[in-house]
Amino acid sequence: MGNIRIFDTKAGQVVDFKPLRPGRFTMYYCGPTVYNYVHLGNLRPVIVFDILTRLFKAEGYQTKVVSNYTDIDDKIINEALEEKKTEREISSFYIDAYQDSLAKLNLLPLFYRPKASEVIEKMEGFIGVLLDKGYAYKAGDDVYFRTSRIADYGSMSHTIIENNQAGKRIEVNDLKESPYDFALWKKTADQGIKFDSPFGRGRPGWHTECVVMIKSVFGQPMVDVHGGGFDLKFPHHENERAQSIGYDGTPLASYWMHVGFLTAAGGVKMSKSLGNVVLAKDCLSRYSGNALRLFFCQSHYRAPIAYSDEAMEKAEADGRRYVSTLQKLEYRAEWLNTDLNGAKPDAEVLSKALGFLADDLNVANALTVLERQVRVALTILRQLRPRPEDLRTSYATLAGLYDFLGIKFDHVALSVDGREEMEEFEKAHSEHRFDASDELRADLIKKGIL
Ligand SMILES: [Zn+2]
Repeated sequence: MGNIRIFDTKAGQVVDFKPLRPGRFTMYYCGPTVYNYVHLGNLRPVIVFDILTRLFKAEGYQTKVVSNYTDIDDKIINEALEEKKTEREISSFYIDAYQDSLAKLNLLPLFYRPKASEVIEKMEGFIGVLLDKGYAYKAGDDVYFRTSRIADYGSMSHTIIENNQAGKRIEVNDLKESPYDFALWKKTADQGIKFDSPFGRGRPGWHTECVVMIKSVFGQPMVDVHGGGFDLKFPHHENERAQSIGYDGTPLASYWMHVGFLTAAGGVKMSKSLGNVVLAKDCLSRYSGNALRLFFCQSHYRAPIAYSDEAMEKAEADGRRYVSTLQKLEYRAEWLNTDLNGAKPDAEVLSKALGFLADDLNVANALTVLERQVRVALTILRQLRPRPEDLRTSYATLAGLYDFLGIKFDHVALSVDGREEMEEFEKAHSEHRFDASDELRADLIKKGIL
Protein backbone atom coordinates (compact mmCIF):
# COMPACT_ATOMS: atom_id res chain seq x y z
CA MET A 1 0.00 0.00 0.00
CA GLY A 2 1.48 3.26 -1.10
CA ASN A 3 1.23 6.47 0.81
CA ILE A 4 -1.98 8.38 0.10
CA ARG A 5 -2.18 12.11 0.73
CA ILE A 6 -5.41 14.07 0.82
CA PHE A 7 -6.40 17.63 1.63
CA ASP A 8 -8.17 17.69 4.97
CA THR A 9 -10.39 20.74 5.41
CA LYS A 10 -9.85 20.79 9.17
CA ALA A 11 -6.06 20.61 8.92
CA GLY A 12 -6.22 23.13 6.09
CA GLN A 13 -3.54 21.27 4.16
CA VAL A 14 -2.62 18.06 2.41
CA VAL A 15 -1.91 15.36 4.98
CA ASP A 16 -0.88 11.70 5.03
CA PHE A 17 -3.86 9.39 5.18
CA LYS A 18 -3.89 6.98 8.10
CA PRO A 19 -6.81 4.55 8.23
CA LEU A 20 -8.81 3.97 11.40
CA ARG A 21 -8.34 0.24 10.82
CA PRO A 22 -5.41 -1.10 8.80
CA GLY A 23 -6.33 -1.99 5.22
CA ARG A 24 -9.84 -0.55 5.50
CA PHE A 25 -11.20 2.61 3.97
CA THR A 26 -14.55 3.99 5.11
CA MET A 27 -16.19 7.06 3.60
CA TYR A 28 -19.50 8.80 3.85
CA TYR A 29 -20.63 11.68 1.71
CA CYS A 30 -23.90 13.59 1.94
CA GLY A 31 -26.43 12.80 -0.74
CA PRO A 32 -29.22 14.86 -2.27
CA THR A 33 -32.46 16.12 -0.80
CA VAL A 34 -34.87 14.43 -3.17
CA TYR A 35 -37.44 17.11 -4.00
CA ASN A 36 -36.41 17.90 -7.59
CA TYR A 37 -34.01 16.86 -10.36
CA VAL A 38 -30.45 17.25 -9.12
CA HIS A 39 -28.34 19.82 -10.82
CA LEU A 40 -25.10 18.82 -12.43
CA GLY A 41 -22.97 20.25 -9.61
CA ASN A 42 -24.38 17.53 -7.33
CA LEU A 43 -22.66 14.89 -9.44
CA ARG A 44 -19.20 16.36 -9.05
CA PRO A 45 -18.61 15.00 -5.52
CA VAL A 46 -20.13 11.69 -6.62
CA ILE A 47 -17.51 11.31 -9.36
CA VAL A 48 -14.63 12.68 -7.29
CA PHE A 49 -15.37 10.29 -4.43
CA ASP A 50 -15.75 7.41 -6.88
CA ILE A 51 -12.24 8.09 -8.21
CA LEU A 52 -10.98 8.36 -4.62
CA THR A 53 -12.54 4.98 -3.82
CA ARG A 54 -10.93 3.48 -6.94
CA LEU A 55 -7.57 4.77 -5.70
CA PHE A 56 -7.99 3.10 -2.31
CA LYS A 57 -9.10 -0.13 -3.99
CA ALA A 58 -6.10 -0.05 -6.33
CA GLU A 59 -3.87 0.45 -3.29
CA GLY A 60 -5.29 -2.73 -1.80
CA TYR A 61 -7.79 -1.31 0.69
CA GLN A 62 -11.14 -2.87 1.44
CA THR A 63 -13.56 -0.03 0.84
CA LYS A 64 -16.94 0.74 2.34
CA VAL A 65 -18.69 3.85 1.06
CA VAL A 66 -22.11 5.15 2.02
CA SER A 67 -24.18 8.11 0.89
CA ASN A 68 -27.69 9.03 1.94
CA TYR A 69 -30.95 10.33 0.59
CA THR A 70 -32.60 13.13 2.54
CA ASP A 71 -36.22 12.16 2.03
CA ILE A 72 -37.67 14.17 4.90
CA ASP A 73 -37.43 17.90 4.41
CA ASP A 74 -39.59 21.01 4.18
CA LYS A 75 -38.73 21.31 0.49
CA ILE A 76 -40.21 17.86 -0.15
CA ILE A 77 -43.34 18.77 1.78
CA ASN A 78 -43.78 21.97 -0.24
CA GLU A 79 -43.23 20.13 -3.51
CA ALA A 80 -45.77 17.49 -2.48
CA LEU A 81 -48.37 20.16 -1.68
CA GLU A 82 -47.71 21.88 -4.96
CA GLU A 83 -47.92 18.72 -7.05
CA LYS A 84 -50.83 17.35 -4.97
CA LYS A 85 -48.88 14.17 -4.25
CA THR A 86 -47.63 12.48 -1.12
CA GLU A 87 -44.13 13.21 0.14
CA ARG A 88 -43.31 9.56 -0.43
CA GLU A 89 -44.32 9.84 -4.08
CA ILE A 90 -42.17 12.93 -4.53
CA SER A 91 -39.09 11.47 -2.86
CA SER A 92 -39.27 8.09 -4.58
CA PHE A 93 -39.79 9.75 -7.97
CA TYR A 94 -36.69 11.90 -7.57
CA ILE A 95 -34.66 9.06 -6.07
CA ASP A 96 -35.41 7.07 -9.23
CA ALA A 97 -34.49 10.04 -11.41
CA TYR A 98 -31.21 10.46 -9.51
CA GLN A 99 -30.42 6.77 -9.87
CA ASP A 100 -31.09 6.98 -13.62
CA SER A 101 -28.39 9.63 -13.83
CA LEU A 102 -25.99 7.68 -11.60
CA ALA A 103 -26.46 4.57 -13.73
CA LYS A 104 -24.76 6.36 -16.62
CA LEU A 105 -21.64 7.19 -14.63
CA ASN A 106 -19.96 3.77 -14.25
CA LEU A 107 -19.78 4.17 -10.48
CA LEU A 108 -18.50 1.53 -8.11
CA PRO A 109 -21.49 0.31 -6.13
CA LEU A 110 -21.94 1.89 -2.71
CA PHE A 111 -22.26 -0.27 0.37
CA TYR A 112 -25.61 1.29 1.21
CA ARG A 113 -27.79 4.31 0.50
CA PRO A 114 -29.83 4.94 3.64
CA LYS A 115 -32.84 7.25 3.69
CA ALA A 116 -33.55 9.67 6.52
CA SER A 117 -36.99 8.09 6.93
CA GLU A 118 -35.31 4.79 7.87
CA VAL A 119 -33.50 6.21 10.87
CA ILE A 120 -36.16 8.30 12.61
CA GLU A 121 -36.17 6.18 15.76
CA LYS A 122 -32.39 6.13 15.87
CA MET A 123 -32.39 9.92 15.56
CA GLU A 124 -34.82 10.17 18.47
CA GLY A 125 -32.55 8.03 20.62
CA PHE A 126 -29.53 10.06 19.55
CA ILE A 127 -31.20 13.37 20.39
CA GLY A 128 -32.27 11.90 23.73
CA VAL A 129 -28.64 11.18 24.60
CA LEU A 130 -27.60 14.73 23.64
CA LEU A 131 -30.36 16.08 25.90
CA ASP A 132 -29.28 13.84 28.79
CA LYS A 133 -25.69 14.96 28.44
CA GLY A 134 -26.55 18.64 28.28
CA TYR A 135 -25.47 19.05 24.66
CA ALA A 136 -29.04 19.82 23.71
CA TYR A 137 -31.89 21.75 25.29
CA LYS A 138 -35.56 22.18 24.85
CA ALA A 139 -36.69 25.62 23.81
CA GLY A 140 -40.42 25.99 23.48
CA ASP A 141 -41.56 22.97 21.52
CA ASP A 142 -38.25 22.42 19.79
CA VAL A 143 -34.93 20.81 20.69
CA TYR A 144 -31.70 22.67 19.91
CA PHE A 145 -28.07 21.70 19.96
CA ARG A 146 -25.98 23.74 22.43
CA THR A 147 -22.98 24.76 20.31
CA SER A 148 -21.34 26.58 23.24
CA ARG A 149 -20.59 23.14 24.72
CA ILE A 150 -18.20 22.36 21.85
CA ALA A 151 -14.91 24.06 22.67
CA ASP A 152 -13.62 24.06 19.11
CA TYR A 153 -16.92 24.68 17.35
CA GLY A 154 -16.12 26.25 13.96
CA SER A 155 -12.63 24.74 13.81
CA MET A 156 -13.32 22.15 11.10
CA SER A 157 -14.74 24.64 8.61
CA HIS A 158 -12.52 27.51 9.85
CA THR A 159 -15.58 29.56 10.63
CA ILE A 160 -15.00 32.44 12.99
CA ILE A 161 -17.54 32.13 15.77
CA GLU A 162 -18.48 35.48 17.21
CA ASN A 163 -19.58 35.66 20.79
CA ASN A 164 -23.24 36.28 21.04
CA GLN A 165 -23.05 39.56 22.91
CA ALA A 166 -26.12 41.66 23.46
CA GLY A 167 -26.70 43.99 20.57
CA LYS A 168 -24.47 41.90 18.30
CA ARG A 169 -26.97 39.26 17.45
CA ILE A 170 -26.52 37.61 14.12
CA GLU A 171 -29.97 36.19 14.07
CA VAL A 172 -32.99 37.01 16.16
CA ASN A 173 -34.44 34.03 17.89
CA ASP A 174 -35.42 34.46 21.50
CA LEU A 175 -35.62 30.74 22.06
CA LYS A 176 -32.04 29.94 21.09
CA GLU A 177 -29.17 30.45 23.50
CA SER A 178 -26.84 31.23 20.63
CA PRO A 179 -27.46 32.08 16.99
CA TYR A 180 -25.27 29.12 16.08
CA ASP A 181 -27.48 26.62 17.89
CA PHE A 182 -29.48 24.53 15.46
CA ALA A 183 -32.67 22.53 15.62
CA LEU A 184 -32.39 18.81 16.30
CA TRP A 185 -36.15 18.36 16.46
CA LYS A 186 -38.91 20.73 15.50
CA LYS A 187 -42.51 20.50 16.48
CA THR A 188 -44.65 21.34 13.50
CA ALA A 189 -48.29 21.95 12.83
CA ASP A 190 -47.96 21.95 9.06
CA GLN A 191 -49.41 19.37 6.68
CA GLY A 192 -46.12 17.53 6.30
CA ILE A 193 -45.14 14.16 7.70
CA LYS A 194 -44.72 14.12 11.49
CA PHE A 195 -43.39 11.60 13.94
CA ASP A 196 -44.27 11.04 17.58
CA SER A 197 -41.23 11.42 19.74
CA PRO A 198 -40.42 11.90 23.42
CA PHE A 199 -40.00 15.61 22.58
CA GLY A 200 -43.31 16.03 20.82
CA ARG A 201 -44.84 15.38 17.44
CA GLY A 202 -42.63 16.79 14.71
CA ARG A 203 -39.62 16.28 12.51
CA PRO A 204 -35.86 15.99 12.96
CA GLY A 205 -33.57 18.74 11.73
CA TRP A 206 -31.40 18.08 8.70
CA HIS A 207 -28.02 17.97 10.48
CA THR A 208 -28.70 14.83 12.51
CA GLU A 209 -29.42 12.11 9.95
CA CYS A 210 -25.87 11.75 8.55
CA VAL A 211 -24.36 11.44 12.02
CA VAL A 212 -26.81 8.73 13.01
CA MET A 213 -26.34 6.91 9.71
CA ILE A 214 -22.56 6.89 10.04
CA LYS A 215 -22.71 5.53 13.57
CA SER A 216 -25.18 2.81 12.65
CA VAL A 217 -24.21 1.71 9.13
CA PHE A 218 -20.46 1.47 9.69
CA GLY A 219 -20.64 -0.18 13.09
CA GLN A 220 -18.05 2.29 14.38
CA PRO A 221 -18.37 5.83 15.76
CA MET A 222 -16.54 7.52 12.89
CA VAL A 223 -15.35 7.14 9.31
CA ASP A 224 -12.02 7.81 7.67
CA VAL A 225 -13.36 10.41 5.28
CA HIS A 226 -16.51 12.50 5.39
CA GLY A 227 -17.11 14.35 2.17
CA GLY A 228 -19.39 16.70 0.36
CA GLY A 229 -19.50 19.87 -1.67
CA PHE A 230 -17.85 23.09 -0.44
CA ASP A 231 -21.25 24.45 0.53
CA LEU A 232 -21.67 21.72 3.17
CA LYS A 233 -18.64 22.73 5.27
CA PHE A 234 -20.64 25.17 7.34
CA PRO A 235 -23.01 24.81 8.96
CA HIS A 236 -23.90 21.25 7.91
CA HIS A 237 -20.62 19.41 8.47
CA GLU A 238 -19.54 21.57 11.38
CA ASN A 239 -22.86 20.74 13.04
CA GLU A 240 -22.52 17.04 12.27
CA ARG A 241 -19.10 17.04 13.90
CA ALA A 242 -20.42 18.95 16.94
CA GLN A 243 -23.21 16.43 17.50
CA SER A 244 -20.79 13.53 17.23
CA ILE A 245 -18.48 15.07 19.84
CA GLY A 246 -21.47 15.59 22.11
CA TYR A 247 -22.75 12.06 21.59
CA ASP A 248 -19.63 9.94 22.03
CA GLY A 249 -16.64 12.25 22.04
CA THR A 250 -15.46 11.38 18.51
CA PRO A 251 -15.16 13.97 15.71
CA LEU A 252 -17.16 11.77 13.24
CA ALA A 253 -14.38 11.62 10.61
CA SER A 254 -10.60 11.54 10.55
CA TYR A 255 -10.58 13.71 7.43
CA TRP A 256 -13.05 16.12 5.86
CA MET A 257 -12.95 16.48 2.11
CA HIS A 258 -14.81 19.13 0.16
CA VAL A 259 -15.32 19.39 -3.56
CA GLY A 260 -15.36 22.68 -5.48
CA PHE A 261 -18.34 24.25 -7.19
CA LEU A 262 -19.54 23.82 -10.70
CA THR A 263 -20.15 27.24 -12.23
CA ALA A 264 -21.62 28.45 -15.47
CA ALA A 265 -19.28 29.61 -18.25
CA GLY A 266 -16.94 32.38 -17.15
CA GLY A 267 -17.18 31.37 -13.48
CA VAL A 268 -20.69 32.80 -13.07
CA LYS A 269 -22.63 31.16 -10.27
CA MET A 270 -25.33 28.75 -11.41
CA SER A 271 -28.65 29.86 -9.99
CA LYS A 272 -32.31 29.49 -10.66
CA SER A 273 -32.82 33.24 -10.92
CA LEU A 274 -30.16 33.53 -13.63
CA GLY A 275 -31.69 30.58 -15.48
CA ASN A 276 -28.28 28.99 -16.05
CA VAL A 277 -28.64 25.85 -13.95
CA VAL A 278 -27.73 22.65 -15.80
CA LEU A 279 -29.65 19.59 -14.65
CA ALA A 280 -27.77 16.29 -14.42
CA LYS A 281 -30.39 14.51 -16.49
CA ASP A 282 -30.22 17.10 -19.29
CA CYS A 283 -26.43 16.96 -19.49
CA LEU A 284 -26.46 13.16 -19.49
CA SER A 285 -29.05 12.99 -22.26
CA ARG A 286 -26.61 14.90 -24.50
CA TYR A 287 -23.25 13.58 -23.32
CA SER A 288 -21.94 10.23 -22.15
CA GLY A 289 -20.93 9.35 -18.60
CA ASN A 290 -17.31 9.18 -19.80
CA ALA A 291 -17.58 12.74 -21.08
CA LEU A 292 -18.91 14.00 -17.76
CA ARG A 293 -16.17 12.21 -15.83
CA LEU A 294 -13.47 13.57 -18.10
CA PHE A 295 -14.99 17.04 -17.91
CA PHE A 296 -14.76 16.97 -14.11
CA CYS A 297 -11.19 15.65 -14.47
CA GLN A 298 -10.19 18.83 -16.29
CA SER A 299 -9.95 20.72 -13.02
CA HIS A 300 -8.52 19.83 -9.61
CA TYR A 301 -11.38 18.64 -7.43
CA ARG A 302 -10.99 21.49 -4.96
CA ALA A 303 -10.98 24.19 -7.63
CA PRO A 304 -14.15 25.51 -9.21
CA ILE A 305 -14.93 24.26 -12.69
CA ALA A 306 -16.90 26.11 -15.34
CA TYR A 307 -19.45 24.28 -17.45
CA SER A 308 -19.55 24.92 -21.16
CA ASP A 309 -20.63 22.99 -24.22
CA GLU A 310 -17.11 23.38 -25.66
CA ALA A 311 -15.58 21.76 -22.58
CA MET A 312 -18.13 18.95 -22.72
CA GLU A 313 -17.53 18.39 -26.45
CA LYS A 314 -13.81 18.14 -25.82
CA ALA A 315 -14.36 15.68 -22.98
CA GLU A 316 -16.67 13.65 -25.19
CA ALA A 317 -14.08 13.53 -27.99
CA ASP A 318 -11.34 12.51 -25.52
CA GLY A 319 -13.52 9.75 -24.13
CA ARG A 320 -14.30 8.42 -27.59
CA ARG A 321 -10.63 8.48 -28.52
CA TYR A 322 -9.68 6.56 -25.36
CA VAL A 323 -12.33 3.92 -25.89
CA SER A 324 -11.70 3.51 -29.63
CA THR A 325 -7.94 3.10 -29.06
CA LEU A 326 -8.58 0.27 -26.64
CA GLN A 327 -11.09 -1.29 -29.00
CA LYS A 328 -8.61 -1.13 -31.88
CA LEU A 329 -6.20 -3.13 -29.74
CA GLU A 330 -8.96 -5.69 -29.21
CA TYR A 331 -9.76 -5.91 -32.92
CA ARG A 332 -6.12 -6.27 -33.85
CA ALA A 333 -5.46 -8.89 -31.20
CA GLU A 334 -8.43 -10.89 -32.37
CA TRP A 335 -7.37 -10.67 -35.99
CA LEU A 336 -3.89 -11.89 -35.03
CA ASN A 337 -5.31 -14.56 -32.71
CA THR A 338 -3.57 -12.95 -29.76
CA ASP A 339 -5.29 -13.74 -26.49
CA LEU A 340 -5.66 -10.62 -24.34
CA ASN A 341 -6.91 -12.52 -21.31
CA GLY A 342 -4.50 -12.43 -18.43
CA ALA A 343 -2.34 -9.78 -20.12
CA LYS A 344 -0.05 -7.99 -17.68
CA PRO A 345 0.07 -4.19 -17.61
CA ASP A 346 3.23 -2.13 -17.47
CA ALA A 347 3.45 -1.98 -13.68
CA GLU A 348 5.72 1.06 -13.72
CA VAL A 349 3.19 3.08 -15.71
CA LEU A 350 0.31 2.12 -13.46
CA SER A 351 2.22 2.90 -10.32
CA LYS A 352 3.21 6.29 -11.73
CA ALA A 353 -0.45 7.13 -12.41
CA LEU A 354 -1.47 5.85 -8.97
CA GLY A 355 1.25 7.96 -7.41
CA PHE A 356 -0.28 11.06 -8.96
CA LEU A 357 -3.77 10.11 -7.79
CA ALA A 358 -2.40 9.41 -4.32
CA ASP A 359 -1.17 13.01 -4.26
CA ASP A 360 -4.54 14.51 -3.32
CA LEU A 361 -6.10 13.24 -6.56
CA ASN A 362 -3.83 14.90 -9.07
CA VAL A 363 -6.00 13.70 -11.91
CA ALA A 364 -4.42 16.09 -14.42
CA ASN A 365 -1.05 14.37 -14.08
CA ALA A 366 -2.65 10.93 -14.16
CA LEU A 367 -4.32 11.94 -17.41
CA THR A 368 -0.94 12.92 -18.85
CA VAL A 369 0.25 9.37 -18.15
CA LEU A 370 -2.90 8.05 -19.79
CA GLU A 371 -2.53 10.26 -22.87
CA ARG A 372 1.03 9.02 -23.29
CA GLN A 373 -0.14 5.41 -23.18
CA VAL A 374 -2.80 6.16 -25.78
CA ARG A 375 -0.01 7.42 -28.04
CA VAL A 376 2.04 4.30 -27.29
CA ALA A 377 -0.93 2.16 -28.31
CA LEU A 378 -1.45 4.09 -31.53
CA THR A 379 2.24 3.67 -32.38
CA ILE A 380 1.98 -0.08 -31.83
CA LEU A 381 -1.14 -0.18 -33.99
CA ARG A 382 0.66 1.52 -36.85
CA GLN A 383 2.28 -1.84 -37.63
CA LEU A 384 -0.26 -4.18 -39.13
CA ARG A 385 1.22 -7.16 -37.27
CA PRO A 386 2.70 -5.84 -34.06
CA ARG A 387 4.33 -8.18 -31.56
CA PRO A 388 1.66 -9.99 -29.50
CA GLU A 389 3.41 -8.99 -26.27
CA ASP A 390 3.25 -5.31 -27.24
CA LEU A 391 -0.47 -5.59 -27.93
CA ARG A 392 -1.08 -7.39 -24.66
CA THR A 393 0.90 -5.00 -22.50
CA SER A 394 -0.52 -1.91 -24.13
CA TYR A 395 -4.05 -3.24 -23.74
CA ALA A 396 -3.70 -4.20 -20.09
CA THR A 397 -1.99 -0.92 -19.25
CA LEU A 398 -4.66 1.20 -20.88
CA ALA A 399 -7.46 -0.86 -19.34
CA GLY A 400 -5.82 -0.42 -15.93
CA LEU A 401 -5.52 3.35 -16.34
CA TYR A 402 -9.12 3.62 -17.50
CA ASP A 403 -10.20 1.68 -14.45
CA PHE A 404 -8.42 4.11 -12.10
CA LEU A 405 -10.50 6.95 -13.51
CA GLY A 406 -13.69 4.95 -14.08
CA ILE A 407 -13.66 5.37 -17.86
CA LYS A 408 -16.10 2.87 -19.24
CA PHE A 409 -15.44 0.82 -22.37
CA ASP A 410 -17.36 -1.91 -24.14
CA HIS A 411 -15.56 -4.93 -25.48
CA VAL A 412 -15.70 -5.48 -29.22
CA ALA A 413 -15.42 -8.55 -31.42
CA LEU A 414 -14.38 -8.69 -35.05
CA SER A 415 -17.16 -9.80 -37.40
CA VAL A 416 -16.55 -12.29 -40.21
CA ASP A 417 -16.80 -9.39 -42.66
CA GLY A 418 -14.35 -7.34 -40.64
CA ARG A 419 -11.86 -10.18 -40.59
CA GLU A 420 -12.14 -10.63 -44.36
CA GLU A 421 -11.72 -6.92 -44.92
CA MET A 422 -8.53 -6.95 -42.82
CA GLU A 423 -7.21 -9.88 -44.89
CA GLU A 424 -8.02 -8.08 -48.15
CA PHE A 425 -6.39 -4.92 -46.90
CA GLU A 426 -3.20 -6.73 -45.95
CA LYS A 427 -3.13 -8.52 -49.30
CA ALA A 428 -3.71 -5.34 -51.35
CA HIS A 429 -1.06 -3.57 -49.32
CA SER A 430 1.55 -6.28 -49.77
CA GLU A 431 0.80 -6.46 -53.51
CA HIS A 432 1.26 -2.69 -53.76
CA ARG A 433 -2.27 -2.18 -55.04
CA PHE A 434 -2.40 1.21 -53.35
CA ASP A 435 -5.77 2.43 -54.60
CA ALA A 436 -7.45 -0.69 -53.25
CA SER A 437 -5.51 -0.67 -50.00
CA ASP A 438 -6.22 3.04 -49.40
CA GLU A 439 -9.90 2.46 -49.92
CA LEU A 440 -9.95 -0.51 -47.57
CA ARG A 441 -7.91 1.34 -44.98
CA ALA A 442 -10.35 4.27 -45.06
CA ASP A 443 -13.27 1.92 -44.59
CA LEU A 444 -11.60 0.03 -41.73
CA ILE A 445 -10.78 3.33 -40.02
CA LYS A 446 -14.38 4.42 -40.42
CA LYS A 447 -15.51 1.20 -38.75
CA GLY A 448 -13.12 1.80 -35.87
CA ILE A 449 -11.19 -1.39 -36.60
CA LEU A 450 -7.96 0.16 -37.84
ZN1 LIG B 1 -24.71 15.30 5.84
